[in-house]
Amino acid sequence: MSFSGVLRAALLCSLVVACSSQRPAETNAAAPPAPSPGAPATKDAAEAPGGEPSPAGAAGTAADAAGSAGSAGVAASAADEEPPIPEPSFDEVARVLFADRASPTTAAAACPSSTPPDARVRCLFDERYRGDAKSASLAHELFVRWRVVAGVEVAHTMNGGYRGMIRIEPALPIGAERKHIEWIVSAMHDFEAFFAELDRHHPVAEAAGGAPASRPKRYRWKPVTLRFMRSVAARTPSAYAHDWTVAWNLAGSLHRSADAVRETLFHEMFHLNDYAHPPPGGEAWSFHALGATFDAIVKRCGTAIPCLGPYSPNDTIVRGGTYYSFQPGNGVREYAAELAVRYYREQREQLRARPQTESTSSGASPARAAPSARGRFKCGPPENARAWTLMRDEFFGGVDAVPPCGS
Ligand SMILES: [Zn+2]
Repeated sequence: MSFSGVLRAALLCSLVVACSSQRPAETNAAAPPAPSPGAPATKDAAEAPGGEPSPAGAAGTAADAAGSAGSAGVAASAADEEPPIPEPSFDEVARVLFADRASPTTAAAACPSSTPPDARVRCLFDERYRGDAKSASLAHELFVRWRVVAGVEVAHTMNGGYRGMIRIEPALPIGAERKHIEWIVSAMHDFEAFFAELDRHHPVAEAAGGAPASRPKRYRWKPVTLRFMRSVAARTPSAYAHDWTVAWNLAGSLHRSADAVRETLFHEMFHLNDYAHPPPGGEAWSFHALGATFDAIVKRCGTAIPCLGPYSPNDTIVRGGTYYSFQPGNGVREYAAELAVRYYREQREQLRARPQTESTSSGASPARAAPSARGRFKCGPPENARAWTLMRDEFFGGVDAVPPCGS
């Protein structure tokens, strides 16, 4: 294996842990509120078998219905047809921002209720990110633009599986760590542009000259809650996800570039969506939809890398193991998350390889060459096409900008 291959494999080791750990139940002092009425029943994170992200409630921390933290709602386009997610209350935002304090709402005392609502929320971010005005502005932008509440994780010790117990401490992306929140804001801009581009590619939209189609967007990428933290004496997990919350490790070994952060964030968000789409009586979409396909591939190939190669959505190999998507213990959930990233990557490349008009907004990359047929996941074995289609239809409105195989 080349040096870069080994490095990549080493990095992925941390992703194994990233996706196999959650906050223990006893440390949930700042746990999200109960799901809103009508949400699927959720299981506590600590009960999830195999240590995967817990089933996500339909509403997370940012979805407390106690009242609006600010008067400005998330800008809605004609394509945003999903039921509105309630605004988080001021106190809810404070609880995420100051989750490391015994009394988060007391910590917000510098922002009295006499302050106009929007200015009061801004005050809260300035207080939390005091000492780094740029980070404060980025965190505020995440909230205003996408209702992403970027606060801190609660201190706890997590079970890191084969890596042992890992101490997690709350941390802020300020000063030398500001790059994390810069990367995340950049990733969110990219997601916004990506889903707008995907909308325009929808057959209905194309027939209408590129106008956004009015249809539900099923892949939720906002709002979510972000909780920054730092692992002590370890560089794993890089991130983990549960209950519409992504915990982000400032020491995470995967967070090495804007592109790596973008795909890691998309991967984690898939887990949240996976558990938000359970079949009747089931736990997550991936078990039901992709389980049989995944099991058949594993039965055929075991962990043999040459055999698994054509089926793996990602080319990363765990050191001493096999493809990350098929690494024993990861299960179909990780195959599915990697498939979601593969879908995102291929659509993004294809959409941005198209002639550029007014379409790309901030965060979008310049036009580039579209992937060749050889590089299209769906053009591999028949199992790939089946999984691709199921993913496309469940989470991405049936849109596929990638040309048909054979073209
Ligand atoms: Zn994962």
